[in-house]
Amino acid sequence: MKITDVKTFLMSPPARPRGEGKPGGGWSARNWLFVKVYTDEGVVGIGEGSGWPRVIETAVRDIAPILIGEDPTHIERIWQKILTATMGNGMTGTIGSGAMNGIDMALWDIKGKVLNTPVWNLLGGKVRDRIRVYGHAATAEEALRLKEKGITGVKTGGVIDPVDRVEAIRKAVGDEMDIMVDAHGPPWFTTKDAILVGKALEPYNLLFYEDPVPPDNVDALARVQENVDIPIAAGERHSHIWGVRQLIEREIVDVVQPDSGRIGGITQLKKIAAMAEAHYITVAPHSGSLGPVGEYAALHVLASIPNALILERVEFDSPSRYEVVVPHPETVDGYIEVPDRPGLGVDIDEAVAARYPSRGNTGTPGEESGGASWEPGTWHEYVYYQTRYRRQKTLRRVREV
Ligand SMILES: [Mg+2]
Repeated sequence: MKITDVKTFLMSPPARPRGEGKPGGGWSARNWLFVKVYTDEGVVGIGEGSGWPRVIETAVRDIAPILIGEDPTHIERIWQKILTATMGNGMTGTIGSGAMNGIDMALWDIKGKVLNTPVWNLLGGKVRDRIRVYGHAATAEEALRLKEKGITGVKTGGVIDPVDRVEAIRKAVGDEMDIMVDAHGPPWFTTKDAILVGKALEPYNLLFYEDPVPPDNVDALARVQENVDIPIAAGERHSHIWGVRQLIEREIVDVVQPDSGRIGGITQLKKIAAMAEAHYITVAPHSGSLGPVGEYAALHVLASIPNALILERVEFDSPSRYEVVVPHPETVDGYIEVPDRPGLGVDIDEAVAARYPSRGNTGTPGEESGGASWEPGTWHEYVYYQTRYRRQKTLRRVREV
């Protein structure tokens, strides 16, 4: 069997308005890149490369010629071939690994289809039949909506009064749900601030405290880990095994969060899970902003590893999430059933993808409209050289605890 072609499908589905109660606007618009690898035997594999889709699409097209004629079942060899072929380009980060991600995922899909078995079976078989998921909520009302859907974990984000928000959510949902906080590693947040907020959140028994500081400085994250008694989670912005190596080997995280759309593929997800297992670190892939193909890949990996914690799942961001893939995995009682079909068990509706042309994704949300702590039109004043938020407003409640 030989690879004959590689095609890409960009898609920017419209976001669903989030409604009242969320400063600065609704859901972020989605940008997805799907990759298909074709063979001379008619078997077609699908994958996803996310992060910066239009740039990654160019990378995939650049890599495609070295794939033509390769046997798609030799996945590790092809992965290493791409790595070697692109090393002269420098440290390509999530662009390089995002492109490899889409290709690698499609190769696993092909292999499963050829052998007529699900990808999880190729990864060692099933440890579990269903994967627990968590949703997102900015308000107690949104958290209740998730609870009503049967979801048992909720993540809230941002650094403005996170204690108030967690308290409101806890009061609304009771002790039935796990709560997580994602600070999104903002460049204007100092390590001391991240520790301060983390200590104030300690009494709430969070499942994890995510990206408390920007991910570029591993030592800063280590300081948070040493000073805050909440499981620390990070890893969504890193590339392949080397990107998360220090986080795992130095036990700076308790939960590693490889992004299943840009970590470098299923090959890398499985290796990272093994590295983490040796350090009693659990795996909770970053999948929320991804399209549903990357999410499918995460389901197969989580099914096959012992240290799977939970999967990120955005239920309400864009209705197109539910129309572009067939079949769409449903959340039932807070879990998604692991697919049993050959390969990944998913395909995209190309007509639906074509309906939403790519818009690119380098925007600055709230720049014009203003946000929680800055006036409309002043966003540029807060970039880089001073904290974007007013400290007193951001940390008021934290100081009171
Ligand atoms: Mg995050």
